[in-house]
Amino acid sequence: MSTVRTNPLATAVAERRFCYVVELVASALRREWQVLEAASRLARVPQLVAGSITSYAGGALGQDPIRVGTAARARGLTPNVHVTCVSQDREGIRKTLEDLHALGLHNVFALTGDWPREGTPIFDIDSVELVRMIAELRRGGMPFHVAVAVSPFKYVEADQLYQYLKLEKKIAAGADLAITQVGWDAVKFAELRRYLDERGLAVPILGNVYVLGPRAAERMATGQPPGCWVSPELLEAVRVESRAPDKGLRARLERAARTVAVLRGLGYAGAYIGGTHDADQVQWVIRRADALATQWEELYGELSFGRSGGFYLYEDPRRSATRRAPRAAPPGDRATAPAAPSSRSTLVPRALDALGRLFPVARDTPLRRVLRRLFAWIDRRPPLARAVERLELAVKQPVFGCQACGNCVLSWMEYVCPQTCPKQMRNGPCGGTDMGRCEVLDQPCIWVAVHERATAAGRVDTLRTFVPAPDRSLRGTSSWINYFLDRDRRPDRDDQDAGRQVR
Ligand code: SF4
Repeated sequence: MSTVRTNPLATAVAERRFCYVVELVASALRREWQVLEAASRLARVPQLVAGSITSYAGGALGQDPIRVGTAARARGLTPNVHVTCVSQDREGIRKTLEDLHALGLHNVFALTGDWPREGTPIFDIDSVELVRMIAELRRGGMPFHVAVAVSPFKYVEADQLYQYLKLEKKIAAGADLAITQVGWDAVKFAELRRYLDERGLAVPILGNVYVLGPRAAERMATGQPPGCWVSPELLEAVRVESRAPDKGLRARLERAARTVAVLRGLGYAGAYIGGTHDADQVQWVIRRADALATQWEELYGELSFGRSGGFYLYEDPRRSATRRAPRAAPPGDRATAPAAPSSRSTLVPRALDALGRLFPVARDTPLRRVLRRLFAWIDRRPPLARAVERLELAVKQPVFGCQACGNCVLSWMEYVCPQTCPKQMRNGPCGGTDMGRCEVLDQPCIWVAVHERATAAGRVDTLRTFVPAPDRSLRGTSSWINYFLDRDRRPDRDDQDAGRQVR
């Protein structure tokens, strides 16, 4: 494949050569020339196969990642450009991808993105639909190599399992490579590798290796940026290290090198280094990791900054096939996990399921044909159609928090409305949750409820179904009418291209 021949990142993962990618944070805090100077020096590190150029890191607008990516490539560093779903609708994202192709920038990191700190947020599509869009463009001749994110560092069962399930959806959609969220828990790194191996998913993974200094540690200890978390024990260790004459530099590079050695031992495809742009530091970490390679099993035990009482899928992901029972969170734990689904919250889905079985309309039944004719008749009379929309909202708003999106997918989401997710995603949680709680609103993540209800009903497998983004031109219309007239976007219609409005 031509991508593999010309693309060092794709080549390294295809040849199973352990490789390194450095994250270049193109934030507004750095001047563009500083980022590019760092790129020039990093380009001289032979083991480095790409520089990953951020976009909207931490929810703030930074340098234009396409311009920085183009300039980094001119300096000899292969760019891996972050493409997020933040503040662009699907047409805008498609245009960005076409621009990337026109410039010959084909390594992309497809992300949902952090909640913007300023401006009106737009989240039109989610990362799974983004990957589908890129895969569609690839089929059309644009040789994109797609990296996606996954976090094994979730300590609430439903949150963690949905992370893995969403990764499976991204792989099915066309992802080539997965990159983990930041974390310092070797058991969780091993858990992810084992989860994929058990399912025969050979997708290569880069483990995130963050060179953690005291400022970043203090911030991450509070859960910022969303999805990044430093345990009290690790924070204390970093504080102690930072009292050394070198302010803890040697110690944090050593921790990074040890993490790389562990990742290598666990069968990761490479390391995604963050927290430094300094080529000398990166080179030091690479050399030291090489020297430590044979000791990785001892180092595995040291990298144990997980969440006390948190969820782990296996007793020991390296050996045992035993699934570990979740442990209760200890008293005084900073964050509390959402409660198990109440019988009331599972009652509504069960009642609606029973109704669906009693009056089948999901396939071509006589009842569906009658209702289709009825709703077509109503649709031709706008005041009546408006009255139906009002009635639908009056019924669904109090029960589901309906916002009249016009493309109802409640039955694919265990009767949890996706519009109640601030990012309006339809295929699973983003990486920003903290102990199962939303990164934006002070509420449990809605996806935890979806997973718990699906588990209680014994149909977690149905959550693997791709749920398309809504046709937003249908907002404020009746989803009942749209459903029976087949003009909404929903999983059981196969006449919908990825990321396109269908009207
Ligand atoms: S998916 Fe759309 S139509 Fe269905 S409950 Fe949510 S907002 Fe309402």
